[in-house]
Amino acid sequence: MATMGSPSHQLRKDVGHLKYTDLLPYNKDGYAATREFLLKVTELLVEFVKDTHDRNKKILDFHHPAEMLRLLDLDVPDRGLPLQQLLDDCSKTLQYQVKTGHPRFFNQLSCGLDLISMTGEWLTATANTNMFTYEIAPVFILMEHVVLEKMRDIIGFRGGDSILAPGGSISNLYAFLAARHKLFPGYKEKGIHSIAGQLVMFTSDQCHYSVKSCAAVCGLGTDNCVEVPSDERGRMIPEQLEKLILERKARGHVPFFVNATAGTTVLGAFDPLEPIADICHKYRLWLHVDAAWGGGLLLSKKHRHPRLTGIERADSVTWNPHKLMGTLLQCSTVHFKEDGLLISCNQMSAEYLFMQDKLYDVRYDTGDKVIQCGRHNDIFKLWLQWRAKGTEGFEKHMDRLMELAAYMTRKIKSMPDKYHLIVEPEMVNVSFWYVPSRLRGMAHTAEREKILGEITPVLKGRMMQAGTLMVGYQPLDERPNFFRNIISSAAVTEVDVDFLLAELERLGHDL
Ligand SMILES: *Cc1c(COP(=O)(O)O)cnc(C)c1O
Repeated sequence: MATMGSPSHQLRKDVGHLKYTDLLPYNKDGYAATREFLLKVTELLVEFVKDTHDRNKKILDFHHPAEMLRLLDLDVPDRGLPLQQLLDDCSKTLQYQVKTGHPRFFNQLSCGLDLISMTGEWLTATANTNMFTYEIAPVFILMEHVVLEKMRDIIGFRGGDSILAPGGSISNLYAFLAARHKLFPGYKEKGIHSIAGQLVMFTSDQCHYSVKSCAAVCGLGTDNCVEVPSDERGRMIPEQLEKLILERKARGHVPFFVNATAGTTVLGAFDPLEPIADICHKYRLWLHVDAAWGGGLLLSKKHRHPRLTGIERADSVTWNPHKLMGTLLQCSTVHFKEDGLLISCNQMSAEYLFMQDKLYDVRYDTGDKVIQCGRHNDIFKLWLQWRAKGTEGFEKHMDRLMELAAYMTRKIKSMPDKYHLIVEPEMVNVSFWYVPSRLRGMAHTAEREKILGEITPVLKGRMMQAGTLMVGYQPLDERPNFFRNIISSAAVTEVDVDFLLAELERLGHDL
């Protein structure tokens, strides 16, 4: 198979022909070849980092799946392949991978390639340990303690407990489970029939779908995840929440859980936490704040208030460092005001892992606090990143992202014929339509919105084919497709925002 010709993709011939059995541990004298192979792979990765930040390089080289299958050799063969082939495989994989750290990638809530965090991920892979016991991950377990305590402190929880989970969706599920356990401790042993009445949870109609999935997974049924209407900017309306709670109570149901979203996935809206906390207090409901997206702004003195004011009144909080903070995928945390709930809720006391007569203080064995068995090490990359940036560096990062989003909003408003801003952003989500030439004279009616909604995916398709820009789109409620631009990468500058707007015009003016 052809190599790319660059010296970093070429092993010395005598090494290139070797097989994995010539490396450690199969060949005890294989260190020299092992070293050469690993350094070559590393060079390839470093080159990818360089290309990722090169504005002259494309973000992606798009092909449809059938064509991609022809371009790649994905076969897993009966006979193993030599090292040069493996290096070529690595190179080709990166060649066709989307560069999510490219300064013109605005597509996802997790963008950017934080190099310190990436270094942490490399070390994590090399250390290759499991996070269930102190016994096999002493340093990483202690790092979890320190970092999670710091995060609780920033939220405003004194004491409490936290865990890293495989994504915000699972973090939300942990909150749900802890809430049910706290309010109905019999459930763990006796199951659903130990609760008299239908459990009901509440969340806004703008929430992340994982909240609804808790209702499906945990036996409530999605009909008992009540969607509370939101205002024109996507924020839950507290009066509607109270009305719906009373309605369900009148039907004999058992409301127990309210999810407030701090930074909604599409619009970046913040539910008003203080009035929602008042309602939860009044009716004795668990308050969970899903700050998977907006949690990063807790680090900014300038932007934390009023958006997250009152978050310390929550019983639990989801916060994804892999989003706004730029930590590498995957890094999600969930925090609890009350200590001891996680262990009491999830403990199964597996005797082969969590023996109580170990050499050390077994409270450091976190494995029995979770519904998983093994846990990936997601802490080191965050810890190392925090060491590098300091809390101050994160604050600067937040303020810069918000500044860029404000810059983009100003730009869009200054060209109302070409771009139609949908809502005034509260965060770094900028929602808008691109208006092609033929629609510029038309009044902004439902009819025009419908056409704009049809144009949006076509323009996105052109973007993907060109490979120069990636911005996401979606419909929302009554609104047809519109672009949702995310600025959450340290690589983005004003120049890239200018490019984005000019590129939409270049690719879409004739639509
Ligand atoms: C992204 C997101 C989630 C889900 O997080 P994953 O890590 O993708 O599972 C949950 N809630 C909100 C508000 C989000 O933006």
